[in-house]
Amino acid sequence: RFAYVDGRYPRHADAAVHIEDRGFQFADGVYEVCEVRAGMIVDLTRHLDRLERSLGALAIAMPMSRAALLAVFRELARRNGLRNGWIYLQITRGAAPRDHYFPQTPVNPTVVVTTRAVDPAKVEAAAAAGIGVITVPDDRWGRVDIKTVGLLSNVLAKQAARDAGAREAWFVDRDGFVTEGGSTNAWIVANGALVTRPTSPGILGGITRLVVMDFAAAHGLKVEERAFTVPEALAADEAFVTSATSVVTAVVRIDGRPIGDGKPGPIARDLRAGFHDVAELTPLI
Ligand code: PMP
Repeated sequence: RFAYVDGRYPRHADAAVHIEDRGFQFADGVYEVCEVRAGMIVDLTRHLDRLERSLGALAIAMPMSRAALLAVFRELARRNGLRNGWIYLQITRGAAPRDHYFPQTPVNPTVVVTTRAVDPAKVEAAAAAGIGVITVPDDRWGRVDIKTVGLLSNVLAKQAARDAGAREAWFVDRDGFVTEGGSTNAWIVANGALVTRPTSPGILGGITRLVVMDFAAAHGLKVEERAFTVPEALAADEAFVTSATSVVTAVVRIDGRPIGDGKPGPIARDLRAGFHDVAELTPLI
């Protein structure tokens, strides 16, 4: 297995960046994760659009063209024999002697790409049961719409979920409204509508979230972009999460209490089954 680091394709075990890389020192970098399914990259255009927005917010220049990035994804996928799984891309401001200010003499951004292969049958079997979530106070900074590698709150929240026997943590704001998951957007199905929080600086605008909205529009499902509370979620017909890695995964328990009959609901199942029919698919070769 290989990785991509700044123009080279080292073996994954030997791939490294400098100890004074600002990603390591300050979480001064951004990332994207794209699903790969049957040799296709899912929603590449929207992921690259968001990458450019994240880089722009940090005043880091796009280090290479979109075409060049796609060529790297394809070459790494080819070397790794990737057909199903994920492509991870991280871009940091680069390596420079530790100092909070941006480096005064420009440095090249660090670009890292890795792949992860999954067995689609295993992924589907795991998702079929649905997941449990816990709720935790949202103690993150105010610009989580930028997809930075500063994920400590997310790490702590997700570990708390695992410790509680759940898979995901839903962040809850001071007013009792769910913001999003530790690595997913949060949804409920109530009164026949799909309900999810509107985008703002307080959530990451998920690409999967947008594709679910496209699916809803194509299938005559109603979407309400509004915040919902934990009690509302507990009383909902269904709940689910979305992300490039979980696609659409039903939530069957919140803080140990069942949603609906405690099994994945029909809308979450339909969304998962039909998701890739509306997603953009870019061949890896
Ligand atoms: N919110 C957070 C905090 C995330 O980390 C992610 C996944 N990176 C998402 C939402 C979902 O985004 P996407 O659908 O683009 O994977």
